[in-house]
Amino acid sequence: MSDETYVVVGGGLAGGSAAATLREEGFDGAVVLVTVEDRPPYERPVLSKGYMLGSEKESSAYLHDSGWWSDHDIDLRTETMVTGVRLEDRVLELEDGGSLAYDKLLLATGSWPRRIEVPGADLDGVLYLRDMPEAERIRAAIEAGGPLVIVGAGWIGLEIAAAARTHGVAVTVLETATLPLQRVLGDRVAEVFASLHRHHGVDLRLGSGVAQIRGDGGSVTSVVTSEGEEVPAAAVVVAIGAAPQSDWGQAAGLSGDPGIDTDASLRTSDVAVWAAGDIAAVDNPRLGRRVRVEHWAMAHDSGPVAARSMLGQDVTFDKLPFFFTDQYDLGMEYVGHVEDVDETEVVVRGDADPAGPLAFQAFWLRDEVVQAAMHVNMWDDGVDPLEALVGRRVDAGRLGDRGVPLADL
Ligand SMILES: Cc1cc2nc3c(=O)[nH]c(=O)nc-3n(C[C@H](O)[C@H](O)[C@H](O)COP(=O)(O)OP(=O)(O)OC[C@H]3O[C@@H](n4cnc5c(N)ncnc54)[C@H](O)[C@@H]3O)c2cc1C
Repeated sequence: MSDETYVVVGGGLAGGSAAATLREEGFDGAVVLVTVEDRPPYERPVLSKGYMLGSEKESSAYLHDSGWWSDHDIDLRTETMVTGVRLEDRVLELEDGGSLAYDKLLLATGSWPRRIEVPGADLDGVLYLRDMPEAERIRAAIEAGGPLVIVGAGWIGLEIAAAARTHGVAVTVLETATLPLQRVLGDRVAEVFASLHRHHGVDLRLGSGVAQIRGDGGSVTSVVTSEGEEVPAAAVVVAIGAAPQSDWGQAAGLSGDPGIDTDASLRTSDVAVWAAGDIAAVDNPRLGRRVRVEHWAMAHDSGPVAARSMLGQDVTFDKLPFFFTDQYDLGMEYVGHVEDVDETEVVVRGDADPAGPLAFQAFWLRDEVVQAAMHVNMWDDGVDPLEALVGRRVDAGRLGDRGVPLADL
């Protein structure tokens, strides 16, 4: 039996799946899973989708039921915050003044929503979405009937907007860019999302930020936009992006900014430390560059790979980034990675007219090479034929021609 202790920090999908994999792979030393949250590891995508809509229960988010962790001899330490690491001593420092020694360490601390800094930002009813209690608060605000102001038309802001509109709540979305998701998708496809939300009754205000949040008796009553217009709000959801929670790892000397750099086996610049999930900036051999993405699939795939790497197995993380969203009756899957969307040519195949039944594929090309691809509502083909094209040189004209099978390109 091993006398080593492997510590995993982070009770999300990456940390939870890594700890589980250590046991599945037969590691019989001590496994400690530390999380600041008050519950066992869970996944987050459902929080802004089925849970917000009321169609899925909280229980659907958990990786395993609470008894599973002790049944597998995993020492799950909830409500335990790590504040630092002494790499040379192989010791974690805890917020309560305690410490925790490790032989090998996995950091899977995820991201945290960026805070808005305007007058009124601390009023009751100014909400963010990262964890389950926050999802409960937003869902309660939706069930109370709104009106809701959402700041930021990124994936999470738009998913919450879709859930709120499905409940019939009045929603205003403020977005400083000229289109929602413009930096990720480029104008052509971003316009589809803008039209989709307007079609469903969202008051989408583009090129518009927040000057001030106003309240009465400590609670939100309205948002004053950067144009000086006042929009009534019973709650304000701020969804302006997230930042990796890797400060203390960097402060200890691990390289990376933002996030924690790893090699293709997910090992960091310290020989006894690995990183996975949102915080891992991985040297990806398939892409030929370092990439850090905040996607469910990254957490799902990198946690187990990191665990096997900790066990000394010869593993390489070479998955392409993969992302999905669900908004109203739009389901989308996206594979690949675009560094600068303005340097790409976008090719659309199919019906991307928001007035019609949306069903199309889109491809982002640079120098005729496919960087990324997505489909909307084309579940018969799914993402596999798209993934096969990423990294391939193709003729843009033939790619956009629905008469040419993708397999013939
Ligand atoms: C609402 C929402 C919807 C999403 N929807 C999608 C989607 O549709 N598609 C998609 O691809 N991705 C989606 N994502 C992104 C996806 O959920 C993340 O990429 C994924 O959760 C990352 O997993 P992780 O394990 O790296 O980090 P997390 O899930 O963030 O877990 C990190 C854990 O570490 C804990 N922690 C952090 N710091 C410390 C510390 N110092 N000490 C102790 N514990 C600590 C945290 O509390 C948390 O439990 C969504 C995210 C959110 C929030």
